[in-house]
Formats: sequence, structure tokens, C-alpha cells
Amino acid sequence: MYQRVLLKLSGEFLAGEGGTGIAPEATENLAREIKAAREASGVELSIVIGAGNLWRGTRNGASMDATTADYMGMLATVMNAMALQDALERQGCPTRVMTAIQMSQVAEPYIRRRAVRHLEKGRIVIFGGGTGNPFFTTDTTATLRALEIGAQVVLMAKSHVDGVYDSDPRKNPDATRFDTLTHRDVVDRGLEVMDMTAITLCMDKHLPLVVFDIFEPSNLQRLLAGERVGTLITS
Ligand code: UDP
Repeated sequence: MYQRVLLKLSGEFLAGEGGTGIAPEATENLAREIKAAREASGVELSIVIGAGNLWRGTRNGASMDATTADYMGMLATVMNAMALQDALERQGCPTRVMTAIQMSQVAEPYIRRRAVRHLEKGRIVIFGGGTGNPFFTTDTTATLRALEIGAQVVLMAKSHVDGVYDSDPRKNPDATRFDTLTHRDVVDRGLEVMDMTAITLCMDKHLPLVVFDIFEPSNLQRLLAGERVGTLITS
């Protein structure tokens, strides 16, 4: 059983049809799954959410200065964090957003010890603003924060994909799913789990990952209850 985990969500999970923006219904459904899993398990839960639904660095701002485009991406993660907080709190889940870029009128600054204290008090902590540095991703943020707060695992939530496959299961019907992998396997085979900076950090620090489908009802709950779900990646 896990005591403390970090859940990595893609920004797109908040989007409606078309994959962009923040759709209230999608956000509420996600919050409902998270609340149910949190309450059933009692596991201390922290969350990092991306911003692919709103802005993704130079992929959206190709003609822009790369650092500016990335800072915009970091700000966009704060909007997603606030939307998720709002949905969780309307369902009665105490939540704190902590940001890597100071904006104290909006959310608390990220302070490691304070984050841990919130978790101990049973609050869900959502880390907004990425790492606070351009040229990184929210996958790296998830890894970094998990290591800092002593989370036992990073839960990499995927949309309608139930783990890691040897090729894209949406394109190749013969793709086979892995139950377990090592970080080294992921790096050597170039498997799509998280970006290279993030996976090598997990490998260096022996931080386990679980890749699972958060859109399969109750999957997160089963995972937090200690069941084997998705693909487990360890050293
Ligand atoms: N970003 C950044 N530094 C970080 C985290 C994120 O510059 O530490 C920016 C980067 O531009 C990235 C965007 O924020 O493209 C959104 O994050 P990401 O692409 O990881 O979101 P996801 O794909 O998980 O929705």
C-alpha cells in the first residue's frame, strides 16, 4: 500500500471535444474519480497537471522566443490547477494549489515543508507552474516534486491506454502490453512513458512509476487501494 503518491495528469484531460480549453464537465468527472480514490484509500495525494489543452511552449508559439513560450505554458498549468482545485473543492475535497512561480494573490508559493504539512493534514496538493524553469516539462515537474516530498510512486495517468505497449495500440492492433518494465527498458526502447529528462531522473533516483488508464472507472481507486493496475516501472 502506498502512503503518499504523486498523480501526473495531462492538461488535455480537462478539455472538452477537440482537446482544447477547460470543459467544466470533463473537469468535474476527473475530480469525482480523484475524490473517490482519495477518500476510499486515505493515501496522501499530490497532483501535477500539464497544460497541453491551453498552451504547449514552442509547439503553439513556434515563432516566439522559446523561453517566453515556455513561461506561458507554466502559467497555463496554474489555470488548470485552479480549475481542478475548484472542481475538487465543490465536491468537498480540501485542496491547495502551490506554484513554482510566485503569484501569492492566486495561490501559495511552493515550499516543500509546507506541501508535506498539507498532505499530512489530508489536503490534496496541486503543484502549478511546472518546475518554474523553461525547457522542462510537467513530467519532469512530477518527478522532481515526487522526489522532494518523498512520494513512493508517480502515477502517470493516460487517456484510454491501460499501460505501456511495445508500439502504439491505437495504430497497431498487435501491440503487446507490458505488465512490468525497468526504467532502463523504457530508455533503451524509447517507449513513450514520459520525456527523456524525466525518465532518466526517475532511473537515477529509483523512483517507481505506474502508467495506467485514468478514464477506466475506478482504476485510480483500485490503484490506490494497492491493486496491480497498468504497467509498473521500477529499477
Ligand atoms: N513548462 C515549462 N517548464 C516546466 C513545465 C512546463 O516550461 O517545468 C511549459 C512548457 O512550455 C510545456 C508547457 O509548460 O510545453 C505545458 O506542459 P506540458 O507540455 O508538460 O503539459 P502536458 O503535455 O502534460 O499537458
